[in-house]
Amino acid sequence: MELDLQPLNLPSNSERPFVIAGPCSAETEEQVMNTAKQLAGKGFRIYRAGIWKPRTKPGGFEGNGEKALPWMQQVKQETGMMTATEVATAEHVELALKYDIDLLWIGARTTANPFAMQAVADALKGVDVPVLVKNPVNPDLELWIGALQRLNGAGIKRLGAIHRGFTSYEKKLYRNIPMWQIPIELHRRMPNLPIVNDPSHISGRRDLIAPLCQQAMDLGMDGLMVESHCDPDKAWSDASQQVTPEVLDYILSMLIIRENMDLTNSLSTLRKGIDEIDNELIDLLAKRMGISREIGAYKRDNGMTIVQTKRYSEILDKRAAQGSLKGIDAECIKKIFESIHEESVRQQMELLR
Ligand code: PEP
Ligand code: MN
Repeated sequence: MELDLQPLNLPSNSERPFVIAGPCSAETEEQVMNTAKQLAGKGFRIYRAGIWKPRTKPGGFEGNGEKALPWMQQVKQETGMMTATEVATAEHVELALKYDIDLLWIGARTTANPFAMQAVADALKGVDVPVLVKNPVNPDLELWIGALQRLNGAGIKRLGAIHRGFTSYEKKLYRNIPMWQIPIELHRRMPNLPIVNDPSHISGRRDLIAPLCQQAMDLGMDGLMVESHCDPDKAWSDASQQVTPEVLDYILSMLIIRENMDLTNSLSTLRKGIDEIDNELIDLLAKRMGISREIGAYKRDNGMTIVQTKRYSEILDKRAAQGSLKGIDAECIKKIFESIHEESVRQQMELLR
């Protein structure tokens, strides 16, 4: 289903892409106002703050709820900024609209749940408000598109997507791995849908925000959502990934915005795609070597030889055939697997020393 879209028309600060900035959570009136005033002073035009916070485990700060909504109204009155918050239920929608929130977003956990998504979409029937949909926690493009379709089906035309990365079992550099190929594919399928990058939730740490913002711009993304707090270390949620308004302003002032970037066809996008796949290839090779070392230990403990010729030829023939089916020259695949095998043998030999 094609989406029936209208432009988001969000205000941007000067030459920059549009930026939604503000704390992870609205903690106290003072923190909300203080952060908003500092951001407004730096030219930011759209203020975010979480009113209802989805937490992985009970016991954390789950947001102030309705009590914090008048603070958002005050932000609007005193700074002129637009306000934005996350909604996950029909009640959240009703309250957010009652307190004049200008922009709603759907959190990653909600996008992943079709029942919750439909309930939010139903609550938005007949309302004209821009809505941004975060990617689901799991790397499932169809689920992301499905959530957008549900909202569009309810009549929401000012729609956009937020790329906030994907959960992975192994925690590595990023809190949520970016998997850039997924928003790139979303853009290929829906070229008119604006995509906003959320470097805060991708990285989970403030030192990675600047390079991620640059990467998002180089890929031609339309805007950014960044968490900013007047006193980041004291934040009640996501402290390690928040930056002060001043630091955020500095990060954005360093951004290089290149002309004519498009998420699907710029050279840099294609190169990023290659880099990403190469990273995955290396991770997979490392995993393969790990298993190979386990096999090496087994062979050693059971007095077997390291090179088992029959198995080796089988692998080469099978992989060459698999490669041909995917349009890769069989000889090339053989060469690659010969090299991999050589390294496997070397690693198994090391166990014998
Ligand atoms: C947030 O924006 O603070 C948030 C909870 O994000 P996500 O839904 O991406 O985890
Ligand atoms: Mn957060």
